[in-house]
Amino acid sequence: MPEYPEIACRTAEMNRLLVGKVIQAVEATQPKCLNLPPDRFTSSLSGSRFEKFFQRGKWIEGQTNRGWLLLNMGMGGELLLTDRRHLPEKYRLIVDFTDGSCLAINFWWFGYAHFAGLDALDQHVLTAKLGQNALELTEPEFTALILSQKGRLKAFMLDQTRIAGIGNAYIHDILFLAKLHPQRMISSLTEEEIRNLFAGMQKGLRTSMDKGGAFYESGLDGKKGGFLMEDILVGYREGQPCPICQTPITKIKTGGTSSFICPSCQPVI
Ligand SMILES: [Zn+2]
Repeated sequence: MPEYPEIACRTAEMNRLLVGKVIQAVEATQPKCLNLPPDRFTSSLSGSRFEKFFQRGKWIEGQTNRGWLLLNMGMGGELLLTDRRHLPEKYRLIVDFTDGSCLAINFWWFGYAHFAGLDALDQHVLTAKLGQNALELTEPEFTALILSQKGRLKAFMLDQTRIAGIGNAYIHDILFLAKLHPQRMISSLTEEEIRNLFAGMQKGLRTSMDKGGAFYESGLDGKKGGFLMEDILVGYREGQPCPICQTPITKIKTGGTSSFICPSCQPVI
């Protein structure tokens, strides 16, 4: 599932490669991923020019001179800049540009391609309630935010309405870097632990972002990200030695999901 690093990389690529392109038509083979009937979706975007792309957590917001194309890749997928002669085998949506190129969008499972009018972005329910982007929070903002919350640490870090962009791929290493157990109560965190958590979030996301995102996602040019399985510290590494203390990494149940931790570096307390 694409998370902060991958969406940040895609957004940067779209700003580099798609700004200025004019949409000629849109073809949707999965109308259920749209928030409008396909003909209205197409007519809303046709003739509009991409001006800028923004990241909002796991969403990409493409601003055109007539409205917004809002994309969420769901469990994963591809955004490929190509042309009609080189279409990938699978796609759910094609955005054709007047210069002959096209953006082929595929969702592995299900994703969203929504349209919002220029002044209607704040009425788009799924993006309007998102919290601030994880890497745009300053340390004082992050500290104030977490101190205003109750409950368990992992649930807070994954709550997209509080911090946008962290999911199950990166949370394990973020908490490991901070040496914090996922089930810690927020109220029990010391100032130093909150500082470590902020630093862990920065490092956990930036390390992948600097490598172009995770290896299982690809860029607009079709190239895979450079953040590899061996770059992951504890996530999905059950039974393997902790990179710091060699204790075997364990998989534990935390609420409805699993967590991977080093039981020695991340004590329950
Ligand atoms: Zn350890």
